[in-house]
Amino acid sequence: MLEDKNPQRTPLSELGEFRLIEHLTEQITLSHKSTIKGVGDDAAVLNFKSSRIVVTTDLLVEGIHFDLSYMPLKHLGYKAVMVNLSDCYAMNAMATQITVSIAVSNRFPVEALEELYGGINTACKLYNIDLVGGDTTSSTSGLIISVTAIGEVKEGNEVFRSGANPNDLLVVSGDIGGAYMGLQVLEREKEVFKVNPNSQPDLSMYSYIIERQLKPEARKDIVELLEKLEVIPTSMIDISDGLSSEIIHICKQSKVGVDLYENKIPLDPQVISTCEEFDIDSTTVALNGGEDYELLMTISQKDYPKIKGNPNLTVIGYMTEKETGMHLITRAEQRIPIIAKGWNSLSD
Ligand code: ADP
Ligand code: MG
Repeated sequence: MLEDKNPQRTPLSELGEFRLIEHLTEQITLSHKSTIKGVGDDAAVLNFKSSRIVVTTDLLVEGIHFDLSYMPLKHLGYKAVMVNLSDCYAMNAMATQITVSIAVSNRFPVEALEELYGGINTACKLYNIDLVGGDTTSSTSGLIISVTAIGEVKEGNEVFRSGANPNDLLVVSGDIGGAYMGLQVLEREKEVFKVNPNSQPDLSMYSYIIERQLKPEARKDIVELLEKLEVIPTSMIDISDGLSSEIIHICKQSKVGVDLYENKIPLDPQVISTCEEFDIDSTTVALNGGEDYELLMTISQKDYPKIKGNPNLTVIGYMTEKETGMHLITRAEQRIPIIAKGWNSLSD
C-alpha cells in the first residue's frame, strides 16, 4: 500500500558491511560539545562534565513492533529514534546522542537502508542529536532495529516515576488516543488492499491520527517548556502503553492513589469521530491505546498557577492517598477502578 516503489535495488552484498556502514554514516554531522568521538572507532567518547547522564534502549522487531506493509522505512527510522528520545525526555533530560544497531536480511536492498537512515538522520537533525555509533549485522528474515539514546540533566532536576505525592495534580501533554486510532485505520486499509490491490484509499480525513501512528514526535518541547515555566514535575513517564498502565506505574512507584476525570482527558476531534466510526469507546482508547509518546506527569499544587491555561498541558486528575485507590471518575460521576488493560465502560 505505502510500500517503497523505488525501482533501484542494490544488493547489500555489493557493498559489504564496512562500506555499508561508511555509506550510511557519511552524512552525519556532530553538534554537541559532549561528543568527543563519534562513529569510526571502537567506541564513541563522550564528556558530560558534571551533568547526570540518562541512558535508554529500545528494540524494534519486524512483525512484532512494526509492519512494513504500511510503515515506510523512513518513518520507521524516525519513529525508532523518537521512542528513545521520549524516554530521555520523560526523565526531564535533554537527549544528546544515539547509537543505532540493525540486523537486516538481504531481502532489503541498500536503497531500503538509505530510506531507514533518511528517517534516522531527519530525527537527529530536528532534535539536535549526534549519531555516534552502532552495529550492523545480518538476519535470516526480518529487520531488527535497536536504538540507544543518551541524554543529560542537571543534577537534582531528574524526574522519576516515584516522586508523586497525594494532592499533586495529574497532568498530560498534548492529546491521546490518536496513534491507536491511526493504527486501526491503517490495519483496515491493509485488509482492503489485500482484496483489491488497486484501491487508492483516501486517508485525508484521518491525516492527524495516521501521522500520530507513523510519525510520532517526542515532547522535547515540553521539557523545554517546563524549564521555562520553572516547574519540576514530582514524577513523570512517557505514554507508550496507554494512560492507564502509565498511571498505574506512577501510583505503584510513588505509593499513591489517583482520581482521574474522564471528561478532562484531551482527545483530538479526529480521534472522537474515528472512534464513532469504528464504534469504539474513546475513553477506552485513551486508557489502553498507547504509542502516543506524550508525557504524563504529576505537579505540586503550588505550581498550578504556572501551568494554568497552557494549551500544551491538561490537568486530568489528582493524586490521593494510596488507600483511596486508583479510580476513573466517569462523566456520570461513577468511580471505576483503573486496571492495566481491558478497562470496560460501565457508565452506560
Ligand atoms: P566493531 O567491529 O568494533 O563492532 P564496526 O565495524 O561494527 O566496529 O563499526 C565501526 C564503526 O561504525 C563504529 O564506530 C560503530 O559504532 C559504527 N557503526 C557500525 N554500525 C553502525 C550503524 N548501523 N549505524 C551507525 N554507526 C554504526
Ligand atoms: Mg560492530
